[in-house]
Amino acid sequence: MNLGKSKKIYDEAIKYIPGGVNSPVRAFKSVGTYPIFIKKGHGSKIEDEDGNKYIDYICSWGPLILGHSNEKLLEGIDDILRSGISFGLPTKIEVDMAKLIVESYNGIEMVRMVNSGTEATMSAIRVARGYTGRDKIIKFEGCYHGHNDCLLVKSGSGTITYGIPTSSGVPADIIKNTIVCKYNDLEDVRKTFEKFGEDIAAVIIEPVAGNMGVVPSDKEFLEGLRRITKENGSLLIFDEVITGFRISYGGAGEVYGIEPDMACFGKIIGGGFPVGAYGGKREIMEMVSPIGPVYQAGTLSGNPLAMHIGYRILKVLKENKNIYKELEEKAIMMEEGIRRNIEELNINAKIVRFKSMLTLFFGKGPFKNFDDVQSCDIEMYAKYFNEMLKRGIMLPPAQFEGMFLSAAHTKKDIEYTIKANYEALKVIK
Ligand code: PMP
Repeated sequence: MNLGKSKKIYDEAIKYIPGGVNSPVRAFKSVGTYPIFIKKGHGSKIEDEDGNKYIDYICSWGPLILGHSNEKLLEGIDDILRSGISFGLPTKIEVDMAKLIVESYNGIEMVRMVNSGTEATMSAIRVARGYTGRDKIIKFEGCYHGHNDCLLVKSGSGTITYGIPTSSGVPADIIKNTIVCKYNDLEDVRKTFEKFGEDIAAVIIEPVAGNMGVVPSDKEFLEGLRRITKENGSLLIFDEVITGFRISYGGAGEVYGIEPDMACFGKIIGGGFPVGAYGGKREIMEMVSPIGPVYQAGTLSGNPLAMHIGYRILKVLKENKNIYKELEEKAIMMEEGIRRNIEELNINAKIVRFKSMLTLFFGKGPFKNFDDVQSCDIEMYAKYFNEMLKRGIMLPPAQFEGMFLSAAHTKKDIEYTIKANYEALKVIK
């Protein structure tokens, strides 16, 4: 496999960009190589600068639920761009988009668009604090909510991969109001509320964690969070940046049948453009400037092109709900195929799936929380990643991430992937 051009670009990149990349996990460091530079993508496939082709299970870390360069999304894009790239003034498409999001999600009555998932969670926390007049928040170990100072504590994704779950540069004073509880452990949350209940503004959670590998919440755990937060006058915030419009049209709120007070979105709602959103009950969202005292703004928020793409994606998903059924069918096929391979080859690994999100953990499991996933053999994952890469499969270049399927993946892609998985596991055994 020739990666000469990627290497050349990388050598240049590291002179100008820290680690040669604009986000840490894509440096491929934890799988022992340099980053592969991508030139183009179509459907379920991407192609790198050297012309190698891969079936892509990163899908831009979740946004590309319809696959790469989907024609339905791109139609007439040129005209939209030529009508003006950005105005910093309101446009109708922002209202259409907000209405679609509000209609999709139980309990959300108003929404504000921002430019990333990080901004969405940062703003939601600020609003929750403004609304409750309290400072403390609870987050869960292994959950990643973007790189806001107050949430960058015992977090997941690249922070686990690079061993810095609590970042340097975050003042102790800022995180003194962040309490970290154990995922799926209601008793831990209950005890924390006993101690600090009156000071806790919000509990924020990835209802299905995707940033320590895929670790779903137990239903009783989420129901317990809903009950405890209500009893204590704290807000429950679902971070649906990954799960929103992925695990169903109404996100984890719909799948689990639980209404949070606020929800954060990103990824799919921008279809690959830098978009995020946060929303909540009317009374809570009316805290936001200009009608309320909580300030939050953005020069490019609600960017017309991004809104058009996001709107089109949501429309496609809304009008073709069988997309979710088909996604899950393909994910089950993948799960079952990989499970068979693991059993046949007697590998110490476990495939975890929730809807169309999957992680192959190199450990026995069960995987319920951050401690459980920490026991995985990350060197095995690195070897596995590289064997799959050689076979034309692009997996997340780190153990503690999820694989994403898109509507563009075909059954043939999955069959090929299962076969490659067998060969790769056999080599690394
Ligand atoms: N929340 C979750 C659950 C995420 O997975 C991410 C990003 N992976 C974020 C927030 C932050 O989003 P962004 O990278 O767009 O800032």
